Amino acid sequence: MQLPTSYRHIVLASRPRGEPVAANFRLETVPVPALREGQVLVRNTWLSLDPYMRGRMEDMKSYAEPQPLDACMIGGTAGEVLASRHPGFAPGEQVVGRLGWAEMGVADGALLRKVDTTRIPLSAYLGAVGMPGMTAWYGLTQIVRPQAGQTVVVSAAAGAVGSAVGQLAKERGCRAVGIAGGPEKCAYVVEELGFDACVDYKAGRLADDLARATPDGIDGLFENVGGAGLDACLSRMNPFGRIALCGLIAGYNGEPMPLSNIRYVLSMRLTMQGFIVSEHMALWPQGLAELGALVAQGRLKYRETIAHGLEAAPEAFIGLLKGRNLGKQLVRLA
Ligand code: NDP
Repeated sequence: MQLPTSYRHIVLASRPRGEPVAANFRLETVPVPALREGQVLVRNTWLSLDPYMRGRMEDMKSYAEPQPLDACMIGGTAGEVLASRHPGFAPGEQVVGRLGWAEMGVADGALLRKVDTTRIPLSAYLGAVGMPGMTAWYGLTQIVRPQAGQTVVVSAAAGAVGSAVGQLAKERGCRAVGIAGGPEKCAYVVEELGFDACVDYKAGRLADDLARATPDGIDGLFENVGGAGLDACLSRMNPFGRIALCGLIAGYNGEPMPLSNIRYVLSMRLTMQGFIVSEHMALWPQGLAELGALVAQGRLKYRETIAHGLEAAPEAFIGLLKGRNLGKQLVRLA
C-alpha cells in the first residue's frame, strides 16, 4: 500500500481571552515523518475533545505544562496502524494514543495501546471505556466510595464523565441524582441512563429542585462544574459526606465562582478531594476491566456527539464548553 506523504493537523495559534474562538486555532498540512526504530504510523479515526484542553491553552501554573503555541493541539485519539517499526504493532491493528488534533501521526509504540473492537466499538475507548470512564470510576470508587442506599449527586450528568458516574453509582445500589442543563438532557439522564432524578440547573429553581431530588440529603458528590450547582449541593451534604472534585468547567473561561456555602465543609465535616485521573495509572486496568465488561453487556450506556472532519474540531470544542454536546464529544476523522 502506498503510504500518505502529508496530513493535516491543527495547532494553537494564540491563547484565548475568555471563551476560545476559531481564530485561536490554525489548520496546517505537514509531511509524514520517516519512521524510526520502535515507532508506529497511525491514521486517526477518532479525536477526543475534552474540557481539560481549555486549561492547557492557558499559560498558567497547573498540574501539566501548557500547550505550546504553533504546536499540534494535544488530544486523545483512536485509529489504525498504517506502518510499524515496533515488534508489538502491525498494520491494520486498532490503537488508542495521544496523537492530538491530527489526521495521523507517528508515536513510540510504548505510548500506544492496542484495543479489541470485537465487542466494544473503537470510539468507546475514548469515552466510556477510556479516560472519561476511568475518571468516573476513579472518583466514584476511590474518593466518593458510596455505600448501597446512599445518595450520590453528579453534575454535568449528561456528559461523558457524569453519565458514567451515575450508572456506576446505580450498579453499587445508590440513589443517583444528576444535574444537567435543559429538559432534553435531564430526560436522557433519567429515562435512558436510569438515574433516579435529574435537576435542570437552567430551570431557575436549583435549590428547590435539588432538595426534592435528594430527600435524604447527599452522601457523595461528584463535582464536574463548580459555581451555583456546587454551592447548592454543599448545603444538602450529610455529615461526613465526600466530594470528588473532578472538574470546574463553569470557570474554565475565567468566570468567577464564588461559594457562599463553604461553611458546610466545616459544619458537616466534609472531605473534598481533587484528583487527576492520569496520575493513577496503576488502577486503570482494574477500572477499564469493569467499564469494558459493563459496556459489552449493555449495562453501561453512553451517547456520542460527533463532528465530522478535522476542520470541524475547533467549533465542536467551543460547543463542548457551552454544553452543546450530549455524551462524549468526538471528531470523526477517517
Ligand atoms: P462533558 O461531556 O460533561 O461536557 C462538558 C459539559 O459541561 C457540557 O456538556 C455542559 O453540560 C457542562 N457545562 C459546560 N459549561 C457549564 C457551565 N457554565 N455550567 C454548568 N455546566 C456546564 O465533559 P467531560 O465529561 O469530558 O468532563 C466533565 C468534567 O470532568 C469537566 O469539568 C472536566 O474538566 C472534568 N474531567 C476531569 C478529569 C480529572 O482527571 N480530574 C478527567 C476528565 C474530565 P450542561 O449542558 O449539562 O451544562
